[in-house]
Amino acid sequence: TRLSGSGLLRTQGLIGGRWTDAYDGKTIKVYNPATGDVIAEVPCMSKRETNDAICSAYDTFSSWSKLTANERSRCLRKWYDLLIAHKEELAQLITLEQGKPLKEAVGEVSYGASFIEFFAEEAKRVYGDIIPATLSDRRLFVIKQPVGVVGAITPWNFPLAMITRKVGPALACGCTVVIKPSELTPLTALAAAELSLQAGIPPGVVNVVMGNASDIGDVLLESSQVRKITFTGSTSVGKKLMAGSAGTVKKVSLELGGNAPCIVFDDADLDVAVKGSIAAKFRNSGQTCVCANRIIVQEGIYDKFANAFARAVQNLKVGDGFTEGVAQGPLINESAVQKVESFIQDAISKGAKVVLGGRRHSLGMTFYEPTVISNVNREMLLSREEVFGPVAPILRFKTEEEAIRMANDTNAGLAAYIFTTNVQRSWRVSEALEYGLVGVNEGIISTEVAPFGGVKQSGLGREGSKYGMDEYLEIKYVCLGNM
Ligand code: ADP
Repeated sequence: TRLSGSGLLRTQGLIGGRWTDAYDGKTIKVYNPATGDVIAEVPCMSKRETNDAICSAYDTFSSWSKLTANERSRCLRKWYDLLIAHKEELAQLITLEQGKPLKEAVGEVSYGASFIEFFAEEAKRVYGDIIPATLSDRRLFVIKQPVGVVGAITPWNFPLAMITRKVGPALACGCTVVIKPSELTPLTALAAAELSLQAGIPPGVVNVVMGNASDIGDVLLESSQVRKITFTGSTSVGKKLMAGSAGTVKKVSLELGGNAPCIVFDDADLDVAVKGSIAAKFRNSGQTCVCANRIIVQEGIYDKFANAFARAVQNLKVGDGFTEGVAQGPLINESAVQKVESFIQDAISKGAKVVLGGRRHSLGMTFYEPTVISNVNREMLLSREEVFGPVAPILRFKTEEEAIRMANDTNAGLAAYIFTTNVQRSWRVSEALEYGLVGVNEGIISTEVAPFGGVKQSGLGREGSKYGMDEYLEIKYVCLGNM
């Protein structure tokens, strides 16, 4: 394959610094979604391997957490440098196993690596407090300490970035990790783990297991040595993990599904609104939890916007992510396409109109035509649930109050977008939206320096930024008495 010479194509799990097969020799195949070709086979691990990975993370915690912040910071910085030095190979791996256009994959490597750089710096800033005492012979202190072993379960849509934004802060704080990447995209995770070893991060700090997701999950949940579960993925699995963490009262961070509204007001700059909503909707072929899921347009600009939007969608080139100029890769697998089809069927049966697309693409496989659907209403699955595909449903509203009501009419609360040139409105609406992130006149807002996370059923906790560190720290109060 294109990657055989790079040294980054690892096809075993990583336990205690050793590249390891499944103990029973079982494997799972990893496919290129654009061609259906088998790229590699990786171990199908289960309970025993997960136990061993936890033990190695637990054993290593005592030494890793006792290093100075500077020592951990230097390791992370080196890891960042290596991720950047291998940007092209990592991007190729991402496109190969995930399907996104190579240009987006290169962007993901920069974005993913940026979390390691940022948290290498934050490692040095885990400050405590000195609290004025209520009794004169006492001194009160607050210190922050790493939570311990972290289980990190990640999805396929950002095979690198969803790992680095968990593992970066975890390692910076002094935690050790057991990563379970998606079985659909394990190769990028393994390449990143290989680079962590090359960076001098001690064996056992970063462990990677994959295979039987629910068995691996159960072992992570049941272990009293695992003190924290951090997860990005579907809301239903997130709820299971939260419930399963109760038995050992683990800390939990969850980044779950969204149902992002993208509100275009009459006073929006049309070009900015079209460009921003295309970016928010069609990035990664619509397969991100912050993708615009409902485009809610005010009646005065509706026709102009819908026409300009549809024209822009028509220009999105569909194809293999390795082909120059392609903006839309394949969907991750057949069930993703079937979900899109069922949502569109449901909408049509309830009166929606297909403006553009609405079919599988002539390229076959899991390619789907970029789609625009109008006459969408709140009864349709398209406006109630995340479609996770290249489908843009357009809804109509009259007043600002109505737009806010429609936007908040969901159990999800991750990202929202608004397009308006009225400053007062932008603040008013941003404050009224029950969402963790709001993009104003901008469709791509994620960055390592800002907090990412949801409210309502979109999750718990924040990733990135200084707040991302708190998820991996415990606060300890120390009282010095009888002074
Ligand atoms: P998606 O629809 O994005 O694949 P999932 O929630 O199914 O979302 O998957 C996200 C991650 O959760 C993947 O790594 C998957 O293997 C893992 N996963 C799925 N089911 C379980 C489970 N029961 N326990 C632990 N992890 C799971």
